[in-house]
Amino acid sequence: MYKYLISKEKSLKEKNREYYKNYYRKNREKIKKYYQKYYQEHKEEIYKRTLESQQKYRQSEKGQRYRKKYSKKYYRNHRHRWWAHSTIQLHKKYGHIINISTDELEQIAKKIVHCPICNCKLKWESGKSSSISPSLDRINNGKIINKNNIWIICRKCNASKQDRTLKEFVEYCKIVIKQCTSI
Ligand SMILES: [Zn+2]
Repeated sequence: MYKYLISKEKSLKEKNREYYKNYYRKNREKIKKYYQKYYQEHKEEIYKRTLESQQKYRQSEKGQRYRKKYSKKYYRNHRHRWWAHSTIQLHKKYGHIINISTDELEQIAKKIVHCPICNCKLKWESGKSSSISPSLDRINNGKIINKNNIWIICRKCNASKQDRTLKEFVEYCKIVIKQCTSI
């Protein structure tokens, strides 16, 4: 009997879910407009509520745990993770499309010890960033950042390369060599 009740309840739940799914599919635009209107009319209230819930979360046990885990000290000891996280945030800020997770970028970063262009040893350690700090470079200079479109080079090389492709950069270096043979 008990078992029967559970299965009946489950199927009811599933039915409900399906109903809402279908309803949403059919009325997508209507629902979207409704929420947009609601947001515009209750902007301040929503903002206040969000702030309050953020504060509550920060003070909660879970929030405290999260903060402890991702504190500055944590990142100081996990430089590759910190670099991956801040690099993604920075590129997001500049309007790039991010198709790579922090985990994936961290894994790529952990394998890079030397700059692939000038072979200098990259400075992953904490402290002020310098010319040999790691930096993300997009291979084809597109807006999208994914595993196949990036590599990690030193800041100095990135600054010299600018928005050139690697081929263009090599051509540029050849010209420099040719022009400056007397040095
Ligand atoms: Zn370099």
